[in-house]
Amino acid sequence: MSIIKEFRAFAVRGNVIELAVAVVLGGAFGRIVTAVVEGLVMPVVAALTPGGTWREWSVTPLGLKVGSVLGATIDFLVVALVVFLVVNKLLARKGPVVVTSKTCQECLEVIPLAARRCRACGEAVLQAA
Ligand SMILES: [Zn+2]
Repeated sequence: MSIIKEFRAFAVRGNVIELAVAVVLGGAFGRIVTAVVEGLVMPVVAALTPGGTWREWSVTPLGLKVGSVLGATIDFLVVALVVFLVVNKLLARKGPVVVTSKTCQECLEVIPLAARRCRACGEAVLQAA
């Protein structure tokens, strides 16, 4: 098999294309999350946390940046809470999860539920009831 055919088989096989789409969408969604956090959440956090220069607080004589670590930790906890609330409450699945795939008993490849033959190993598989 030529290297191009092997590469095509690698790229088409499995969920590489779906994964690439997910990465692109994830990157785009990440920018939305960043914008929401910076534009809507952080002003509230800034209003609720003490003002001043505590984020620049460092422990001398080593210059350990304790304030920076503390601030980043608080920021992370707030962002994690917001993402949790959005995912858990707003995007919660409604109704039962629909199964659309099954696993080949011979090679353990994930294949469509209606498949009668495994696309990876060519073995006949049981038809779903
Ligand atoms: Zn198989």
